[in-house]
Amino acid sequence: MAKVPTDVKQPTKEPTVTDEQLNAAADLLLTQLPDHAGELVHILQGEYQVQLWHLLCGIMLAMHQEGRLSAFTLDPAWRDGLRQRMLKCHECNKLFKPHNIGQKFCTNTCGNINEARKLDLNEKDTQNDTYTDSVPNKPESVDSEPSPNNVDPVIATDGTGNWVEAGSLLLDS
Ligand SMILES: [Zn+2]
Repeated sequence: MAKVPTDVKQPTKEPTVTDEQLNAAADLLLTQLPDHAGELVHILQGEYQVQLWHLLCGIMLAMHQEGRLSAFTLDPAWRDGLRQRMLKCHECNKLFKPHNIGQKFCTNTCGNINEARKLDLNEKDTQNDTYTDSVPNKPESVDSEPSPNNVDPVIATDGTGNWVEAGSLLLDS
């Protein structure tokens, strides 16, 4: 009787992937999107307090339910590999690589300077109400301070070409 090779390694344990790892992966994937898209997902995550990867899968599931799953969009920049997100410091405008999600300042120094100025602005706010009405229901964890730097053009224009609709890929081939 022919012996079936049994050099199959002992049944490997089901690989354990933690929520943390999945969330980190989800975050990495989101950094591949233009920031206004990725940031919105982070905003939603903050508002609904769900795991990031649940949210990401939930978005895909919703697309599936709406029959839009096949209408995907590819960014040509993805061919160059993972984009390491660089953020622009809200204080000194220097580009930096953030350690934390949603980090606004390159260093604590810049954070402190900005904080001091905000305190200063708040004092002025008691005299005129310019800032209070502009951001209703501002989620705590979210990068939505009503500063002129709120729109970050660096990330939005990142990438090497135009966005590609899935349909046009099919036509090309
Ligand atoms: Zn800075």
